Amino acid sequence: MHGSPQRLGDAFRVAPGTSVRLATMDPGATLGFDKDAARDRTAADLDRLEVLQETVWAEHRHRILIVLQGIDTAGKDGAIRHLMRAFNAMGVRAVPFGVPVGPELAHDFLWRVHAQVPGDGEIVIFNRSHYEGVLAERIGELVPEATWARRYDAINAFERLLAVEGTTIIKLFLHISPAEQLERLRARLADPAKRWKFRRSDLRDRERWDVAIAAFDDALTRCSTAEAPWYVIPSDHKWFRNLAVGTIVADAIEALQPAFPEPEGLPADLPLS
Ligand code: ADP
Repeated sequence: MHGSPQRLGDAFRVAPGTSVRLATMDPGATLGFDKDAARDRTAADLDRLEVLQETVWAEHRHRILIVLQGIDTAGKDGAIRHLMRAFNAMGVRAVPFGVPVGPELAHDFLWRVHAQVPGDGEIVIFNRSHYEGVLAERIGELVPEATWARRYDAINAFERLLAVEGTTIIKLFLHISPAEQLERLRARLADPAKRWKFRRSDLRDRERWDVAIAAFDDALTRCSTAEAPWYVIPSDHKWFRNLAVGTIVADAIEALQPAFPEPEGLPADLPLS
């Protein structure tokens, strides 16, 4: 047996106050699962997610925000593709955050992010997020330390606001090893369908690994809170990443106990018999 779904998420949740050191966490972990054992569970979680999303949308009460972070090739796109197999386009959006442009540059780092958070009944998946304000901008020295250093408190306050106003926040850090990343970058360059995705900036975190790892550790340590926990997902194995992502998201939504609403204004003498 592989334990209850709840326990799988518990294994990866960063308890508030814990000092995260990614270097000590195994990106190849599979918690005793093998690919075959994972298959059924992954499919069952997709089935759960399908019903849950339909219910959340129908009820129009909960707001669900899923935040994906990870170095290039960590599998953010793959995780989104996986979740989207369960979700209906109605009520779900995936939002990518790239290098800020135009009016985004003329505002604070949370401005463009706040504009994209989920409304009632919506599930929104962030492909990168406000965390780039303490990751890309810190690692690439795009802003001075005084600027990024004060952003952790701003992020926690922002997420607390969202949470108290009814948003469930699930933050997933896809953790891969530098060796696995090298493989994936090579594979990307060798594949005509993926080659176009390669950018010079994909190498940024590799080239500044010590700086990058310190930035990841700080973000995960300082911004995992009770209302918006971080999960560090071992992601060297794509099948295990999908299993963990599906289970954690399904459990978090299920805990809200969404329910289909009654129709409004149903007359007592409905002439349908
Ligand atoms: P992805 O790599 O996510 O598939 P892109 O190739 O478009 O998509 O890369 C997006 C890039 O934008 C990443 O290098 C990321 O670090 C960068 N980025 C995102 N947010 C910011 C930010 N606030 N400041 C600087 N760079 C950012």
